Amino acid sequence: MSSTIQEKGQISIHTENIFPIIKKFLYSDHEIFLRELVSNAVDASQKLKKLSGFGEFNGELGDLKVTVTLDEEAKTITVSDRGIGMTAEEIKKYINQIAFSGASEFLEKYKDKLDEKGAIIGHFGLGFYSSFMVADHVEIITKSFREGSEAARWICDGSTEFEITEAERAEHGTDVILHIAADSEEFLDKNRLQSILDKYGRFLPIPIEFDGTVINNTTPIWTKSPSELTDEDYQNFYKELYPMSEEPLFWIHLNVDYPFNLTGVLYFPRVKNDFQIRREKIQLYSRQVFITDEVKDIVPDFLMMLHGVIDSPDIPLNVSRSFLQADSNVKKINGYITRKVADKLGELFRNDRAGFEQKFDDIGLFVKYGIISDEKFYEKAKDFCLVKNVDGKYFTFDEFSAAVKENQTDKNGTVVWLYTNDLQKQDGFIQSARKRGYEVLLFDTVIDSHFINQLEYKLEKTSLKRVDADTFDKLIDKGLNNESVLSEDDRAKLKTLFEEALENKTGTVSVEAMPTDELPVIITLPEFFRRMKDMSALSGERSMFGPMPDSYNIAVNANHPLADRILKLSDTDEQKVLVKQSLDLAKLAQGMLSGADLTAFIRRTVDTL
Ligand code: ADP
Repeated sequence: MSSTIQEKGQISIHTENIFPIIKKFLYSDHEIFLRELVSNAVDASQKLKKLSGFGEFNGELGDLKVTVTLDEEAKTITVSDRGIGMTAEEIKKYINQIAFSGASEFLEKYKDKLDEKGAIIGHFGLGFYSSFMVADHVEIITKSFREGSEAARWICDGSTEFEITEAERAEHGTDVILHIAADSEEFLDKNRLQSILDKYGRFLPIPIEFDGTVINNTTPIWTKSPSELTDEDYQNFYKELYPMSEEPLFWIHLNVDYPFNLTGVLYFPRVKNDFQIRREKIQLYSRQVFITDEVKDIVPDFLMMLHGVIDSPDIPLNVSRSFLQADSNVKKINGYITRKVADKLGELFRNDRAGFEQKFDDIGLFVKYGIISDEKFYEKAKDFCLVKNVDGKYFTFDEFSAAVKENQTDKNGTVVWLYTNDLQKQDGFIQSARKRGYEVLLFDTVIDSHFINQLEYKLEKTSLKRVDADTFDKLIDKGLNNESVLSEDDRAKLKTLFEEALENKTGTVSVEAMPTDELPVIITLPEFFRRMKDMSALSGERSMFGPMPDSYNIAVNANHPLADRILKLSDTDEQKVLVKQSLDLAKLAQGMLSGADLTAFIRRTVDTL
């Protein structure tokens, strides 16, 4: 069989109706239509203001407000402005051309704004055409501000056909009338419209009237110069943004116009020690139009817990996440915010140390997170980040190093910072440390185990050890051995006795010469093991080898009178009991004794009374 090619060609796709495309690709966030229409109305009003300023418009500016009207019966939503308006020619140019460029061009134009699922990412707005997400007919009645202009009416049902006719309009400006589609009647609800307007239009620069009242503050504080503003203004604005929140700790006014434009006010909230669930977020605006409160990438991670607003026309809002991350403006903005925050904290520290210390329980979380995650921030923060000792006294890193250098440097020249993460449980160890004149820091917040690792990595010749990680002679090994009162032989005997008493061999026994006023036996979990355990617990990951086995050190104090007593009771049951008792005592001091073991210990103790 043979075949001849009769015709070759391309399948062409005609789009008779733009609704399906717009609806399909903008299926999320249909409410955006209102933001887009109101923004257009605001733009048209501001353009007229500018033209008036340039002397290109000599008529009365009058009241430039934008009005949003809901007519539930007629099923319409109307956005009206008194801005520059359009001539019939301008409608054709600005409205029609974009609309009817066809589906393929539409997709071509916006393809980098679509994610894998074909959804338009985030809050990408289609401008005027987003109105077809909710309306089956859109009508524009408009009159240009130019003298002698005729009003015009444009109507379109979302097909490729439109109609332009003459119209009546007394004044310059535009009404956009949406005839809401049957599947979008949820928008014919006063409260719904009110909440959409509140969300996006709260700080628009032209008054927006809905249902008889103006809904916006046209001059929010970030549009003003810091020199015009008082502390009260900042506090009031915070309340306006987050009526339910406690007063902020302090704030930073952002204002830069080169190499990018950005204004805003960032507030430090009171967050105390835990990562509380934060409903309140930083809000991103572009020329006073609310865009999103997903500010990831723009704001450094460690500052995501801040509150406030950022307004920048230079952040690409209509593009996908990966593009945002690569955008050089976004990177610069991120760096700028980090620098400003670090500078502000440094300034507070220098100007009001007492006030800074008071706030540190709240801001410590940000500062530590910043130190862990951002090299540049660390460079600044290392001078003002504070650590607190068990008495509540604050030190900078340098101050603390200087304070402990003399007494807490080991034989290798390493300064040992002792810390506790639990004042109650580790009290015995803390007291022993204090007796030796050692300082003990308190690190008891969620972020501290990461922070400790980072400190050790950053600080030179410094190591951090928890008070109960070993005996003090080992924690800070100064190379000065205490004389042991026991012979080598006796020490070996003692070691065996305790090894035998350890039921499940969960530790290593050593006999050490310690001061006589230390406990007869001390059980410790080495710093390294404990940190590994803490980290894996924090990350929630299970180790490859299952739960980490505990490997305790059991140090028997050769110089304690009890050691001698144990040895003298050679090979009697009484000796076994005494070994068991002193071991349990050490467990008790470590908080390791509970349940039946604890009961047995108490029984045995009672018997000896
Ligand atoms: P964009 O606002 O991104 O330019 P739109 O599709 O929203 O895109 O609008 C296209 C153009 O139509 C605008 O740039 C403007 O010139 C014109 N336009 C839209 N709404 C109005 C209005 N209310 N008054 C005057 N001109 C308008």
